[in-house]
Amino acid sequence: MNGLVSLIGAGPGNPELLTLLGKRRLEEADVIVYDRLVNPAMLAPYAAEKIDVGKLPLHHKVSQYQINDMLVDLSKAGKRVARLKAGDPYVFGRGGEEGQYLSKNKIPFEVVPGLTSAIAGLAAAGIPITHRDFASSFHVITGHRKSNGKELDWENIAHQEGTIVFLMGMAQLPTITQELMAHGMADTTPVAVVQWATHWKQRAVSSDLANIVKLVEETKITSPALIVVGGVVQLMGDLQPHQPLQGLHLLIPYKQDSKLCNALQDEGAAVNFFDRRVKRPLAFDLPDFNAGGTLIVIDFAAFHYFQERLLTMGIDNRALTNWKLVACNHIVKYRLQQDGLLADELYDPQKLDYQRPVVFIGEKTALTSYKPAIKADYLATYQSETVDQSIDLNAFHGIVFPSSAAVADLYTGCTSDEQELMRHMRCFAMGQTVADECQKRGLQNVIEVKPSYDNVIQTVRKVFAR
Ligand code: SAH
Repeated sequence: MNGLVSLIGAGPGNPELLTLLGKRRLEEADVIVYDRLVNPAMLAPYAAEKIDVGKLPLHHKVSQYQINDMLVDLSKAGKRVARLKAGDPYVFGRGGEEGQYLSKNKIPFEVVPGLTSAIAGLAAAGIPITHRDFASSFHVITGHRKSNGKELDWENIAHQEGTIVFLMGMAQLPTITQELMAHGMADTTPVAVVQWATHWKQRAVSSDLANIVKLVEETKITSPALIVVGGVVQLMGDLQPHQPLQGLHLLIPYKQDSKLCNALQDEGAAVNFFDRRVKRPLAFDLPDFNAGGTLIVIDFAAFHYFQERLLTMGIDNRALTNWKLVACNHIVKYRLQQDGLLADELYDPQKLDYQRPVVFIGEKTALTSYKPAIKADYLATYQSETVDQSIDLNAFHGIVFPSSAAVADLYTGCTSDEQELMRHMRCFAMGQTVADECQKRGLQNVIEVKPSYDNVIQTVRKVFAR
């Protein structure tokens, strides 16, 4: 049976500006086919296979024909397909054409609308697309000249009463401003350019028709951006949010449902993520449960994979009845307890009379650092792999580290040049252990913060107070 293809609007960029239906479709999808402008942080929570068909302006990665055929082929293979497009799928970006092609090929499809950047992106920069005093209509226009060379009707556009928004217009900005002025629009008409609206790296500048090109050059604002022409631009000053952490760019580790991210964003900070290490489950033999022994848990994730394995064998935690359960530290003990298991004791490297056999359970590389005085077996249930970070650290004012593992993940995933940069960056370490890990890595600008989100926010505010 052909799978449903959903043409989904991702919204302008902030992952939380996706619709609830869009979110459900991404959860249900077997494959997500997404564009260049879709924020990668938005895709992280979903298990589906992800295909990037993003087109860079001059390097067409995958042609529109290939995308159309890909959607049809995936559906015919019975896959549920989420075709994720920036903004609203039917505002430029060729969503209509994809729908037509699916329809022609008798593929079941639907459209899940999204917030278009043309409206929501302006709002994020403090520009209401209409306002009683300035504009009672709006016009969304492509600045991208059509391949058939047909020019826009400048005479008509220059004489509209309402707000004019150009999408895909940055390469044509000089032409756009000249044509509008040449066709009678006052050179003092306010103009704003909003880049990466609602993304963490959003930037906006405003001026007037006569001067915007120069300003854009000076500030190096480039595509993707919205060009807004009209009186509503004057409201930017009044309607821009003025929150305590406004204008700060902070880097934090990725975590699903990140409370830290919400807390910082709610105070106005722009937050981006770095990737955590990837955990790869390993194949392993289970110990002989009948004999009994001591299971020393190095980290909870490792134990979790162990539990999963038990379940696939048709057994559960009760198999450990004759075993002593030893937690490597308080955090592991707490996590085990949350899972309904009380550790018998905390691991003591000096102790020699653990009930045998003794089995250490943990991550493959981490286990090698345990060299106990007693004879022990090692059970590696997963391996953690470094992820190349490739993040422009210069774009951030600071990094918040909630755990020492997060410090290690970012540091080991960076090139040596990036590590050098990181050493001088302002880092907020949540707790003493995390601060110690920062020090161990040679980070020199570390501020230890008591581990609560409130404390992080208060400290960040104090440090960056202008
Ligand atoms: N369907 C999209 C538009 C696709 S055309 C929508 O409804 O928003 C691509 C153009 O949209 C870009 O060249 C840029 O002009 C604009 N755009 C999309 N997202 C943007 C964003 N977050 N910030 C600024 N411009 C954006």
